[in-house]
Amino acid sequence: MPAFQLLRHNPYFGLSFRMPDLPLPVWIALAALLGLIVGSFLNVVILRLPERMAAEWRREARDVLEMEGDTAPLPPGIVREPSHCMHCGHPLSPLDNIPVLSWLFLRGRCRYCKAGISIQYPLVELLTGITSAVVVWKLGPTWPALAGLGLTWSLIALSGIDFRVQLLPDQITLSLLWVGLLLALVPLFVTGHAAIIGAAIGYLSLWSVYWLFKLVTGKEGMGHGDFKLLAALGAWMGPVALLPIVLLSSFIGAIVGGTLIATRRHESGVPMPFGPFIAMAGWVWFIAGDRLLYAYLQLTGLQ
Ligand SMILES: [Zn+2]
Repeated sequence: MPAFQLLRHNPYFGLSFRMPDLPLPVWIALAALLGLIVGSFLNVVILRLPERMAAEWRREARDVLEMEGDTAPLPPGIVREPSHCMHCGHPLSPLDNIPVLSWLFLRGRCRYCKAGISIQYPLVELLTGITSAVVVWKLGPTWPALAGLGLTWSLIALSGIDFRVQLLPDQITLSLLWVGLLLALVPLFVTGHAAIIGAAIGYLSLWSVYWLFKLVTGKEGMGHGDFKLLAALGAWMGPVALLPIVLLSSFIGAIVGGTLIATRRHESGVPMPFGPFIAMAGWVWFIAGDRLLYAYLQLTGLQ
C-alpha cells in the first residue's frame, strides 16, 4: 500500500487519519472540485426540497381535514429525477450540467429554449467550491475537515432555501443538530458536555428573544427554524461560540439588510430571512473563530 503509507496525525483533535501523501494544495484543489460538483446538487436541494415539503403538507392537511385525497402527483424528488430545463422541460445533457462553466458558456440561457437560467446556479456552485477549499485549507485532509465539509454544505443548502422561501427545513437543521451531538462523542470539535449545553443554550436564547419580541410587539421576529439552527451550531462548536455567532449574524444582517433597503431591493417592514446570516456567522466562526478571538484579545490589550 505505497499510497497509504503516511499516517497523518492531527495534533488538534487527537485523531489519526490515513490519507495518501499529497501536498496540501492538491487536497485544496480536490476539495474545490468536489465542492463545485456538490454545489450543483445543492442547487437541486434548494429548489426541490421546499416544493416537495409543501406538497406533502398539503396532503397531510387534507388528510387531517378529511377532505378528498390530493390526486396531484408529488413534485420531483431530489435524487431520482434527472434535471431538466425549468422553462421548456427539455432534459439536460451532462454538458449542460458542468458547474459554473455551462452557465458561463451558455451565457445564462437554456440551450434549447433560450429562457434565462437563474444566476443562483453558478453562484451556489462557486460558493460551495470556494468554501469547501477553505475548509480543507484550514483543517487539512482530516476527519474534522470531512465533518466540516458536511457542515458547510448543509449551511449553504439551508441559506439558499431560507433565502428563497423563508424556511429552514427540519430535515437539515435537526440532522445537523444530531450529527453535532454525535461528533461530540468522539470528541471531534468540542466535548459532549459542551455540545449538549451549546445546543440547549443555542435553542433557548433565540426562543426567549422570540417570545419577548412577540409579547412586546405582537409580531413574530423570527422563525422556529432559527432556534434549531443556532442549537445545531451550539452542538458543533459549544456554548462559547454562541455569543460571537449571534453578534456576527446581527452585524452581517444589519449590513446586508441595510444595503438591500437602501438600494430599494427590499422593502422595510417586510420580514427578511435571518437563517442565512446565522449560517454565515456560524461558518465564519467555525473557520476563523480562534483567529478572531485572538485578534479581539490583542486589540483590547488582554493578550
Ligand atoms: Zn429550456
